[in-house]
Amino acid sequence: MAVQTSFEELQLSPALTAVVQDLGYTQPTPIQIEAIPALLAGRNIIGQSQTGSGKTAAFALPVLQGIEVERCELQALVICPTRELTAQVGREMRKLGRKHRGLQVLELVGGQLSRPQRDSLERGAHIAIGTPGRLLDLLERGFMKPESIKTVVLDEADRMLDMGFDDDVHKIISYLPENRQTALFSATFPRGIEAMSREIQPDAQRITIETSDKDLADIRELKLCYGSDDKILALCWALQSQSPESALVFCNQKTTVREITEELSRGGISVDRFDGDLEQFNRDQVLARFRNHSVRVLIATDVAGRGLDVEGLDLVINYDLPEQAETYIHRIGRTGRAGATGVAISIVRDETDKDLQDIEKFTGQTIAILDHSASKSSTLADLLKQLAEGPKMETILISGGRKDKVRKGDILGALTGDAGGLDGKDIGKIEIQEKLSYVAVSRAAISDAVSCLNVGRIKGKRFRATHVGR
Ligand code: AMP
Repeated sequence: MAVQTSFEELQLSPALTAVVQDLGYTQPTPIQIEAIPALLAGRNIIGQSQTGSGKTAAFALPVLQGIEVERCELQALVICPTRELTAQVGREMRKLGRKHRGLQVLELVGGQLSRPQRDSLERGAHIAIGTPGRLLDLLERGFMKPESIKTVVLDEADRMLDMGFDDDVHKIISYLPENRQTALFSATFPRGIEAMSREIQPDAQRITIETSDKDLADIRELKLCYGSDDKILALCWALQSQSPESALVFCNQKTTVREITEELSRGGISVDRFDGDLEQFNRDQVLARFRNHSVRVLIATDVAGRGLDVEGLDLVINYDLPEQAETYIHRIGRTGRAGATGVAISIVRDETDKDLQDIEKFTGQTIAILDHSASKSSTLADLLKQLAEGPKMETILISGGRKDKVRKGDILGALTGDAGGLDGKDIGKIEIQEKLSYVAVSRAAISDAVSCLNVGRIKGKRFRATHVGR
């Protein structure tokens, strides 16, 4: 593999090369090395990609390079299976497009009012990212004008098929200009994907990246066998063995998610749940708190498995093994991203668990046994006590976001210096969303921060600040 390739050699514009440099991307990833030149040359591509392989930038950079900002019309469309993935792609697109002055990137997803999305489309946007149902609705009702779209990207296409979006995707595509460029990304290539590719993107260049070297190698896969002990005790052993700053725990059932969230929470552990029952607003809030380290352990169903954008996750636990080996890869792909090593622990009754053996066959990786003899004599109560260390950070929700032109620097400015008087080291991640923002503040400084935000102004305006998630 051409390990020495640099971003400059990929024929990216000086502005985009500068942005990737600012972001600390020193070298393009394998999928970027293959996909960026092909897309810049106008080719259709079908790319095999895992989360964490840098595939978002692999299509976002060429898309951005093709955008003419002065033409205020829709030039690219990205179709994603979930709202979370839409948000993740939106974030990456804005991050990489920060030197494109005046660039408008819209997120168009279901579960939210359609009206503001229609208004934003009317005001004009360059790139739209969204989920199939809502995109189709906006197209069918004439709110989205597809004539000027030059490139369409299908992200996690296999997942879209799994979720039954096949028809919607075909209908969306039928609205787009014939001479458009089509890029399809998928982690797996079942027959349905091959068929879809043949239909919507003739002569697509196939890009396959060996998964074994880049994606799975930075993840240490382990199994923890609980035998005749309590399974929840095993979960605590797993947490104890790694002392993670953030851990994501997967269960197959919502009821299990609730049960163990309650049990750990009663034990004083910083924990929250993420499953399909949560309202969109709560989902966003839970994820923002998990990302900014206000929640240490997140218990989730597979709704969260893909499209869950978390960085710096050091541990993924399979409380239940997934039914499909592919799901296993997606789950553990949340750890060990972009160069950092992560650990994935699967909890099984015994060493010879047949389902885990099937997974090993599928991934070609051997899963070692986690030795938990050191904590084996501890009771659940002991373990919970040891694990019950609060999170370092707490979260404040601010009632203003991108729409109000609020930027990270404005929030930081309102909290520190003469205005707020807080120390910069007490401020953690700041996340600006469309209409609201989240800021992480250290526990010690949280009440000062809430009052200073409620009393002061941001961008000359007053916003409401609330301490959330308690
Ligand atoms: P993705 O596979 O698109 O989910 O990207 C995984 C993570 O890697 C994201 O946080 C990106 O910001 C980051 N990333 C993308 N490309 C690179 C690169 N060339 N070098 C380092 N990090 C990257």
